[in-house]
Amino acid sequence: MNENAELAKIDLYDLTREEMVGLLAGWGYSAYHAKRLWQGLYREGARSLDEIEGLRPDLLEQLHRETTAAALPVGLATKSGDGFTEKFLLGLPDSEEIETVLMLFKGRATACVSTQAGCAMGCVFCATGQMGFRRHLTAGEIVGQVLHVMRLQEERDKALRNVVFMGMGEPLHNYEATMKALEILTDDHGLAMAPKHMTISTVGIVPGIRRMADEGRPYKLAVSLHGATDEERQALVPPAKRWSLDVLMDACRYYSEKSGRRIFFEWTLIAGENDTAEQAHALGRLLQGMEAHVNLIPLNPTHGYGGRPADAERVKAFQGVLSEYDLPSTVRQRRGIDIAAGCGQLRATTL
Ligand code: SAH
Ligand code: SF4
Repeated sequence: MNENAELAKIDLYDLTREEMVGLLAGWGYSAYHAKRLWQGLYREGARSLDEIEGLRPDLLEQLHRETTAAALPVGLATKSGDGFTEKFLLGLPDSEEIETVLMLFKGRATACVSTQAGCAMGCVFCATGQMGFRRHLTAGEIVGQVLHVMRLQEERDKALRNVVFMGMGEPLHNYEATMKALEILTDDHGLAMAPKHMTISTVGIVPGIRRMADEGRPYKLAVSLHGATDEERQALVPPAKRWSLDVLMDACRYYSEKSGRRIFFEWTLIAGENDTAEQAHALGRLLQGMEAHVNLIPLNPTHGYGGRPADAERVKAFQGVLSEYDLPSTVRQRRGIDIAAGCGQLRATTL
């Protein structure tokens, strides 16, 4: 079969359960068969269609002819010196490449997945932003990243319960595929991952935040701020020119009210740039009275940006100011820096 015919096949991992039922119904098979297929793929963790028991031979044949359920091929796997972070370069059918990270913490594992090849947002300190936008990922390609990490964990008799959408790309710029992937991952009859263990991180796409609120999406939301005045934020995060802090914070409050959940705010600390007492106070005032938690991330180095991470003293002082406003904050542990798997360092290595 030629390459185009392969590309034209339906990716089974790109279907919600309902869509799978619809596909098979169109071929004349009852929902029972779709259920068998879904459970085989997600409950029993079949790695190929032939492993799934109880599929009718004629159905199996049609599935082979018209669909794929292939794992994303691993181009490169690297492990950090401390062994707690692993990064995978995964290939896509059109030969784009993305990166996925597995982070091991005490008692839990987290997959960090990409939602786009590259990113259109252009944040100055981010390696993905520096490479520009290549394309959106499909839901199946997002699910495929989680499956890769999950299978690896299973081989080690370990579980994977947490997924953060903090790899390459802006999830709310690829809203449909991101939400569809989340529906597939959290489906009760399949992987049944807990919605509260799924975290979407956004640069602050206002219509996307409002849409998540309106649709009652039950996931954790993290908003990347990095600046507490429009001027500071615009210098680091280009979309801040489109949506001012006023407009963004209105959307965040709307989300909080509708969902009843607190929001996480991310802040990459850059020495002499946004680690000042002035910015800390501005951030305190901005979030005061909100159900919020601030994640502070000392800048990770990237080729295209000359800034330096804030030193430990400044980080502490910054936290001190936030606590004056009763704002809880956590300093994100630096991880996987030696293999460029830290926040904002992901970039398809071969590019
Ligand atoms: N596009 C989404 C999710 C991916 S980036 C977003 O921007 O939120 C995940 C987090 O890493 C964001 O908070 C981002 O601002 C941060 N980040 C990007 N580059 C970084 C760097 N060089 N050092 C530290 N954090 C960085
Ligand atoms: Fe895109 Fe997020 Fe990087 Fe900004 S920080 S360029 S939104 S991936």
